[in-house]
This record gives sequence, C-alpha cells and structure tokens, in this order.
Amino acid sequence: MDTQLLQPTNENIMRCAAKLNGGGLVAFPTETVYALGAVATDSAAVKRLYDVKKRPSDNPLIVAVSKKSAIDGVAKNIPQKARVLIEKFMPGALTLLLDKADCIPDVVTAGSSTVAVRIPNNPIALKLIDLVRKPVVVPSANTSSKPSPTLASHVADDLKGKIDYILDGGESEIGIESTIVDTRTEPPTVHRVGGVTLDKLKAAIGDVVVKRDGKKSIKYVPQADILFSAFYDNMSENICRKYDELAARGRKTVVLCLNGNKKKYGDRAVFTVGKDYSEYAHNLFARLRKADAERYDAVIAEGVEPKGIGESLVNRLIKISGGQII
Ligand code: AMP
Ligand code: MG
Repeated sequence: MDTQLLQPTNENIMRCAAKLNGGGLVAFPTETVYALGAVATDSAAVKRLYDVKKRPSDNPLIVAVSKKSAIDGVAKNIPQKARVLIEKFMPGALTLLLDKADCIPDVVTAGSSTVAVRIPNNPIALKLIDLVRKPVVVPSANTSSKPSPTLASHVADDLKGKIDYILDGGESEIGIESTIVDTRTEPPTVHRVGGVTLDKLKAAIGDVVVKRDGKKSIKYVPQADILFSAFYDNMSENICRKYDELAARGRKTVVLCLNGNKKKYGDRAVFTVGKDYSEYAHNLFARLRKADAERYDAVIAEGVEPKGIGESLVNRLIKISGGQII
C-alpha cells in the first residue's frame, strides 16, 4: 500500500474522510499526539488498525466524536456528572467511560460494555471527524512498542506502507494524555490522571477516587490486574508467554488453571481452581481473594469453552477482567 502524506487543506481533509468511510486508516494530528483513525463502527477497519499498530487486542480504544451532541450516539445512560464534565472540559484532554451504545462493536472496547469517549481539541481532527459523520477510534499513530508520534514524519517512520493517508498538521503538543473518568460510580473514579487535573475535576463534580496504577479502584477488590485467555487447545502456551512477559516487567503473576492442566505451566506460580468448570466457577472468587492476600499484581485465568456453566463462567471472566482477553 502506498501511504500518502497530505497537507491539511479542505480538499485533502475531505479525501481522508472519504477514505475512512471506505474502511481505510488515516493518521491525523490531535492536541496530544498523532492519532491513527478508523471508523469506530467498522469492525473490519478497527481490526486492521490493531494489526497495523501491533496493539494487543485486550487494550481498548478511545472513541472520538467532533461535537457534544454526538456523544449520545456512542453512549447511553449518561450520568448527570458526565454531562457537567462534557460541558466544562470538551473538546479537550478528558475521556469519559460510559455505557456503550449498540453501534460500538466489541473489538473497540475489548469486549467490555463500556466505551471511552472524547472530543479532541484540534481543528484538523475536529473537521475530519465532522466530515466522516461517524465516531472514529483515536489510538496513537505508532507501532505499539514505539514512542507516541508528535510529527507526521514519526508516523511515516512506523506506518508507511501500512495506512492510507497521513495528514500533516505540524508538531503536536507532547505528553498530555487525556484524563480518564468513570462517572457511573459514586464517587466518580479516575482511571488515568492526564490533561484535566484532579483539582479541576473536583471543582466541577466534587469528590473522586483514583484507581491504583490506572487499573482497579483502590476501593474495590480485587487489586490484581485480571486477564483471561481465549479458549483453545494449546492456550497454555499463550498463557505462559504472557506470564513470562509480565514477570519480565516485574509483575508478580499467577495462573488460575484446572487441576489437570497444572503441569503445563512448569514452575510458574499456579492456583488450581478445581477439576471441572463447575468447580472453577465455584472457586473463582476465592482464588482472586487469595491472589490479593498474597499481593499478586496480575492473575491470568484459563479460558473455558462457552458451553453450559462454561458460558456463565466466560461472562464472569469478562466482567472481572474488564474484557482483558489474551
Ligand atoms: P491510549 O492507549 O492512550 O489510546 O488510551 C487507551 C486507554 O483508554 C486504554 O488503555 C484504557 O486504559 C482506556 N480505555 C479505552 N477504552 C476503554 C474502555 N472501553 N473501558 C475502559 N477503559 C478504556
Ligand atoms: Mg499509545
């Protein structure tokens, strides 16, 4: 594929909008870093975006819209405090976690029923999304392991030949990620502190709680990050790989597995959950408490076949992991 670098003229922004609507991938500037856009309601385009970025599929994408009224098209049950934050801080470096509307596919949210929504504060980004007339996912326009791009040339270094267009908007401001807030909890939960400070948030909506290391709330158990594997024959290999990756980053990790699978994990830390799916379902929460008590940072749960009790077990795993499937 030939990747074209375009100046942000009206005509070129229109070309980019048409390309996105046709399922393409277009990089463009936002006030934080360059974003790689795909139409959020187009599962195939979003899947391709994950591939191109080499982004793990358990890391959900932020969805951008160009105006406040469009938020009702991507989210539902919007709490009053979210409305206050929308009025005060959008467009800007604020992302809200909201109940997702049906039009947002699971691939965007990594299986969660929550969608992360923001309005970027950059005229080129706003014009482009406005012309697309649909929500657009906006992860950074880099390969996952590389630093975020703040110049069109950085985007080209990583993604040339893999995406359709790069809109060159000059240098973007560096390093101000959006603040991520969930107003569906009381008090609201801050998942990431970024451009909008805690003081500003508190002035707008009162008390908030801040989640430990951007994942689980201080208030809520379990503390450990929960991941679970998709179910397939040799999922243990995938689990071992993930375990080793986490361990290499200094994360104390444990695998939850059926009794019969224990030996597949060698000398890695393992909690067995029982001999079958009913025992797994029965023991799951107790094992998670044990992981907290023993101060594990991460738990990787074996996937199960979604049949019979396995189906409710899958639902439960999705819920407790926040959709973090490996
Ligand atoms: P970024 O990697 O800067 O594009 O930000 C994406 C981050 O936003 C993810 O890593 C999550 O922490 C958060 N996020 C995005 N979508 C969701 C979602 N549906 N539920 C919870 N958090 C989300
Ligand atoms: Mg990124």
